[in-house]
Amino acid sequence: MEKDSHAEVFSRGYKTFLNACKTERETASRAVEMAREAGFQPLREKQALHPGDKVFTLYKNKAAALFVIGQKSLKTGMRLLCAHTDAPRLDLRPCPLYEKEGLGMLRTHYYGGIKKYQWAALPLALHGVIIKKGGERITVSLGEKEEEPVLYISDLPKHLSAKQAKEPMGEGIDGENLNPVAASLTAEEKQAGLALQKKILSVLKEKYDVEEEDLLSAELEIVPAGKARDAGLDGSLIAAYGHDDRSCVYAGLQAILQLSTPAHTAGLLLLDKEEVGNQGATGMQSRFLENLTARLLHLSGEEGPLAREETLEHSQMLSADVVLAMDPNYPQCFAPGNTAHLGRGPALVKYAGHFGKKDANDANAEFLALLRDVFDAAGVCWQTGEYGITDLGGGGTMAPLPAAYGMETADCGIPLLSMHAPYELASKTDVYEASRAYGAFLASDRAIEQYQ
Ligand code: MN
Ligand code: MN
Repeated sequence: MEKDSHAEVFSRGYKTFLNACKTERETASRAVEMAREAGFQPLREKQALHPGDKVFTLYKNKAAALFVIGQKSLKTGMRLLCAHTDAPRLDLRPCPLYEKEGLGMLRTHYYGGIKKYQWAALPLALHGVIIKKGGERITVSLGEKEEEPVLYISDLPKHLSAKQAKEPMGEGIDGENLNPVAASLTAEEKQAGLALQKKILSVLKEKYDVEEEDLLSAELEIVPAGKARDAGLDGSLIAAYGHDDRSCVYAGLQAILQLSTPAHTAGLLLLDKEEVGNQGATGMQSRFLENLTARLLHLSGEEGPLAREETLEHSQMLSADVVLAMDPNYPQCFAPGNTAHLGRGPALVKYAGHFGKKDANDANAEFLALLRDVFDAAGVCWQTGEYGITDLGGGGTMAPLPAAYGMETADCGIPLLSMHAPYELASKTDVYEASRAYGAFLASDRAIEQYQ
């Protein structure tokens, strides 16, 4: 029997991670749990920081950061990775319950860029939190275990789809029709005169000890139910919900958890809200990184005028986000010779963006040369990628935001097929090689000045 490859062994931990992390909250909390298990300490408990110290912080239960303090002054710059914890999904509205045509229904508002028709007629799970008045927290996870019910959004039967089938694909299912069925009445319940509304409320009470009003202060997310699965006849791939961007989160975590004292302080930032524009307290547009940098400087005894600005400007960042991979079914949509392929390692992307590089970071040639040296010296299998042929669409990443500090920034992530679909496809070898690439970058002592 052949010994399992490194990528195969690595993929087992990754699948377990995906199954435990279906929301931004679950992802951030599992990340800090893994940090703790690996000996990282809570940043807020530290009085001072020294080379070799490993610290983490969980921010508002949705974002997180891990750092390994380096030998050199923070002001010489950090080596940073940023990945995002959120993924496209359907959120329950604050007042979700209603009754129609004899069925109890749930109202949703979709989050992020989804192809709406992909979310009907498949098993869905409900994940999230309900915070009751006074602060009691109820954690919800329903539909992942065999014995638990799932949610289901209907689609028109084929028999009545003549009109729907003529609609443009993007309009076949409307966002306002993405309402899962929540309950129905049995014959006995009907005979006994039980009202549907009452039944739903008693289920909520029984399962979670909450009233309808408690859903006003809840974050309940509907995601595909079920586990990450090996894919392909040879099992070399993984079909799963949330590869975007939890593949990069996991690859980054494994890289930093195994890092021994680097030359420059190394950090992994796990941010929320990337799929809707990076805003809010837990998105990359926030002051999260600035505030953390100030704190690291303070605890390292390196405060002083411009210390934070210098640290950020001298840092280097890999924006670790997934990349569009060449799809053999639709090759005409992907730029020939410039598209990432599954199985060829993480893709270094000079620019994402759309319609003439709008919203693209467009990494500096100098930094790309530095990264070529870092990856090649570590023997990493890597490739380049782009966001499709011109004027077809494209996509944004977090990269322009850290670049605004003046830090060298480039996109580097794992190629996917069917990005943003309920089940996306990634290659095991790419997740593993990405982790190696991230590890080599975090440990790198290469200065950008050599390339300028
Ligand atoms: Mn992403
Ligand atoms: Mn995305």
